[in-house]
Amino acid sequence: MNKVLMNCPNGHGKMAIRNTRKKMTFRGINIIVPSEHYVCTVCDLEASTVDQTAAVQKAISDAYRKAVNLLTGKEIVEKRKNLTLTQEALAKKMNVGIASIKRWEGGTIQSKSMDQALRIALEGKSVGDSYTGNRMFSIPRIKLVLNQFESLLGRRILKKDDKMLFAAKYLWYADMIAHRETGESMTGSTYAALPYGPQLNNYKDLIDDIMKANESRVEPLSTEEKRIINRIAIKFPRDKMVYDAAHKETIWKKQPRGAIIPYTDSAKLTEI
Ligand SMILES: [Zn+2]
Repeated sequence: MNKVLMNCPNGHGKMAIRNTRKKMTFRGINIIVPSEHYVCTVCDLEASTVDQTAAVQKAISDAYRKAVNLLTGKEIVEKRKNLTLTQEALAKKMNVGIASIKRWEGGTIQSKSMDQALRIALEGKSVGDSYTGNRMFSIPRIKLVLNQFESLLGRRILKKDDKMLFAAKYLWYADMIAHRETGESMTGSTYAALPYGPQLNNYKDLIDDIMKANESRVEPLSTEEKRIINRIAIKFPRDKMVYDAAHKETIWKKQPRGAIIPYTDSAKLTEI
């Protein structure tokens, strides 16, 4: 909090900071709220800064929510971060606007039904999400992402009879970084830790389907997804660079060979 030293308007010089706990009734519920304000040691005048007032309002909201068994703003933030979801990703998951998430985290009290929806989104994770990065597996979307890489790199990275040695690593970075930053992968692909790096699981069975896929019928890449692909293409203009970088990632190294690399590890990926 901003510690602006306040002067007493009655001319007694610097005021002191006082921390108290206030008992109050809010919406018919008795709560105790920590409060910080300035007080003059000479005339006892009390005053609060804008930040102090905002902090008290937030504390009232959280104390009330705690008392009536709604998720507090602090709890929403913590649970969201534990799932590595951005505010935007949580909003999308709940089908509400991002402004609602910001308000609830900031102190606005959510309705009982919205609290229920928050709990489902934040506590009711379905099994298997960590293998697909919270998105349905889509072969046409793999092609869409690879096409985007190819247009930025100015060369083909997916070729017939290819072992996807390099294409899979570009894809892996795109999926993992999208999961880290938006809460969901781009393609829903599952990756295995193979001796020559992270690889699309069952890639041998998928290559022909990827090449034949009609990418015009799937959800187009979002601006955010395009930005992520752009960053990866700039960082790794050549195949060898993406190959070497993937081999340095601890989230690949620590997995036993052949094991699935979970998306929940995406937070530990190198910054790109
Ligand atoms: Zn004074």
